[in-house]
Amino acid sequence: MPTTPISDIPAIRDTLRANFRKGVARPLEWRKRQLLQMARMLQENGEAFAEALAKDLGKPRLEVYVHEMGTIIERALVSVQELDNWVKPVAVEAPDWQKPWKPTIYKRAKGTVLIIAPWNYPLVLSLQPFIGAIAAGCCAVLKPSEVSPHNSALLAELFPKYMDPDAYRVVLGAVPETTKLLELQWDHIFYTGNSQIARIISAAAAKHLTPLTLELGGKSPVIIDPTFDIALAAKRIVWGKTQNCGQLCVSPDYVLIPRGHQDAFIAALKDAYAEMFPEGTMNSSSVSRIVSPQHHTRLTDLLKRTKGQVVLGGKTEGTTKIEFTILRDVSGNDSFMEGEIFGPFLPIVPVDSIEEAIEFVQNRPHPLVLYTFTDNAELKERILDETMSGAAVFNDLMQQLIVNELPFGGVGESGHGVQVLKYTYDAFSYDRSSIDVPKEVEPFNAVRYPPYSEEKFKA
Ligand code: NAD
Repeated sequence: MPTTPISDIPAIRDTLRANFRKGVARPLEWRKRQLLQMARMLQENGEAFAEALAKDLGKPRLEVYVHEMGTIIERALVSVQELDNWVKPVAVEAPDWQKPWKPTIYKRAKGTVLIIAPWNYPLVLSLQPFIGAIAAGCCAVLKPSEVSPHNSALLAELFPKYMDPDAYRVVLGAVPETTKLLELQWDHIFYTGNSQIARIISAAAAKHLTPLTLELGGKSPVIIDPTFDIALAAKRIVWGKTQNCGQLCVSPDYVLIPRGHQDAFIAALKDAYAEMFPEGTMNSSSVSRIVSPQHHTRLTDLLKRTKGQVVLGGKTEGTTKIEFTILRDVSGNDSFMEGEIFGPFLPIVPVDSIEEAIEFVQNRPHPLVLYTFTDNAELKERILDETMSGAAVFNDLMQQLIVNELPFGGVGESGHGVQVLKYTYDAFSYDRSSIDVPKEVEPFNAVRYPPYSEEKFKA
């Protein structure tokens, strides 16, 4: 992957900042045209993106079209349709005596912003925030991931052909280039990635008091109430966990199930797996591969150190292949419970009761998602009241991602700030409060001016 010369980076930021001040990115019709151009960029280059993502991640073509390109095209078009509503000033309700001041909230672009994206859904996670930046009227730099170099290089090649370079640029590179970007002042930084690097991003942003969106990950648990249909839960979990080879921020990380039901659950998982992957996952064209040898090493190391028992899969091969693997009797301090797995391993942690499952979740950092399979309305209430997570999803996996009206984001260790359509637009905008005080109200102001007097005090 070519990289952007580090010495060019300050000038890129300065150019965009000067253009922001000139109002290049402000006109509404211009913003809409840029959003349409983004959709066009994907529509006209679908096969090139499919090829890039196949090279980066072995991503199945269908998933590239549906999950990555489809999402962006749809959300760019919805943003075009909704923009007039999003930008409308809001006249606030005020007491009668303040009404003549016309108190109003204006949505205004934050300025020149930086978007740092990861490799696992490299297209959608680069462009979804970018849609919000365009809609809000910001100038923006995208720094896609060096771990998915083909997608990043393609974005850098296509951006100048479709998007206005006076307002939008791609910077290619890894740590040195990102470090340079982070030395500069931005008006918002939108980072998606792991929580360790998030600490570096936060520290850099703090130097300039730059507002941040942090879209992070973590261990999203699945709690299974054994009175739920176990076969259905197993089917949905196998589907969810095999998506992108487990390299998904909302992947089910581990399963908590009352001990006596572990065997039945494993049998159901095996049935679901046999149905979906009759020839296994190692050579399936429906499954992505591990992104890099480094991640392969990280994951195989977890497997070597686990005290859990492999009950399905367990094979690793070369530097990018790992079989979908289920482990039973995994304890809370196992290798698989150290951090986010981000790979095709499903550890099952048996517990004595649902009560213990809730406590297990409460005692760990807040996850991006908490999944629960249950028909019990009371348990759903308890989950909502007694635990914390970015999202609480009942009886399925990942479908929260396709509800355009729901904000997506984490809490605590899984991040802060939210995205998707209007929510991303809001992240890149600020509320500018305004009043416009008529001269005619001056008689009412007499009391506020010095010299103060006893009469004024009584008034
Ligand atoms: P990554 O390695 O691509 O890193 C993300 C970005 O950070 C890249 O652009 C990279 O260049 C930059 N970066 C890396 N090291 C840096 C450093 N030292 N200084 C400055 N910048 C640096 O991706 P990743 O972090 O492996 O991504 C996977 C993680 O992201 C997982 O934890 C996953 O859960 C999370 N994630 C979250 C979401 C979400 O929306 N919440 C979505 C996808 C992934």
